[in-house]
Amino acid sequence: MNIEVRNVSKSYGGQLAVNDVSFKIDRGKLIGLLGPSGGGKSTLLRMLAGLETPDTGDIIIDGRRVNSVAPQYRGIGFVFQNYALFRHMSVYDNIAFGLSVKKEKKAAIARRVEELLVLTALKGFEHRYPHQLSGGQRQRVAFARALAPGPELLLLDEPFAAIDAKVRKELRTWLKSLIERLGITAIFVTHDQDEAIEVADEMLIIQQGKLEQQGTPMDIYQLPQTPFVAGFIGESRLLPNPDRLRGFEDVAFGTGHLSAIVRPEFVEVGRGGEIAFPSASEKGVVRHVFFRGAYLELEVEAGGNLLPSRRSLDGEPMRSGDEVSVLVHRLYVLDRGSACIVENPLKIDPMPVHI
Ligand code: ADP
Ligand code: MG
Repeated sequence: MNIEVRNVSKSYGGQLAVNDVSFKIDRGKLIGLLGPSGGGKSTLLRMLAGLETPDTGDIIIDGRRVNSVAPQYRGIGFVFQNYALFRHMSVYDNIAFGLSVKKEKKAAIARRVEELLVLTALKGFEHRYPHQLSGGQRQRVAFARALAPGPELLLLDEPFAAIDAKVRKELRTWLKSLIERLGITAIFVTHDQDEAIEVADEMLIIQQGKLEQQGTPMDIYQLPQTPFVAGFIGESRLLPNPDRLRGFEDVAFGTGHLSAIVRPEFVEVGRGGEIAFPSASEKGVVRHVFFRGAYLELEVEAGGNLLPSRRSLDGEPMRSGDEVSVLVHRLYVLDRGSACIVENPLKIDPMPVHI
């Protein structure tokens, strides 16, 4: 199913929940709709499903404008975080529900439910009731129920939000392979960027009703196009004094509207000789060290900035108060509505090594 959203807006009581949003999605893609709480993700999804009508703009599915088409005629399945199963119905009856409503033949329903039980790895659980299942199993029943009528588009609104971290990770991997196997299009909402980056073919970042950026997880991570995306994705930190960092003195931050964001992977911290580009590095002082299991997370003060960084546990340990060398490889420089990467210009080839 190809989907196009064209200049869609929706407001509640004068407040814009979705503000002039446009995008296109190709058939067979798994789309992660990501953004902070209250940003308009659910409202957008509900308009696609037909549970809300846009105030302005068009929703086009496979070339047909569906603004006023009722949900049951859109060929869409949905799973919501709190879309509770029917408690008094068995797993079998829950999955069969949509087909029974359509008055399909009993034998056809039985065949379809059997297929879905296999597909969602719920075989053997068909006679259980929802309270006899784990959270992950319940959510798989919700998927099976949504898939039963054979939708071409699956909408998932924070489907894993109520499930604990380990099971959530397994479920999302499972979901991705399921959707690939079925070849359907799916949009899933999440506020967890790791989840979106891990499973989505493409991401839509939405904030305050506005679409900030659409792109592959790699694009979004490496080339954020707006200040919001640069600050929202990854572990990003806005710097108070970027113009005081070695290599970035000439970026003209003093003009007033430029600012800069750094991520831990942009900052290298080492002891004398550990850093390959001495001419591009400066002195700093370790202010905080946090043990993160697989690595140390550092906060290092340099040029009036507290820079985040990481250090492998293999190296010599670092303590708060240690004097170190700091190399800022690059910064995201934000200029009003846009963001771009500025590489440290002092990073020239390291000294040749003579053997
Ligand atoms: P998200 O799913 O990204 O958290 P929502 O789409 O639920 O965001 O909400 C976007 C904005 O619209 C919020 O400010 C929310 O309070 C408002 N909103 C959503 N649904 C309704 C509604 N039915 N009535 C009034 N306001 C609503
Ligand atoms: Mg929501």
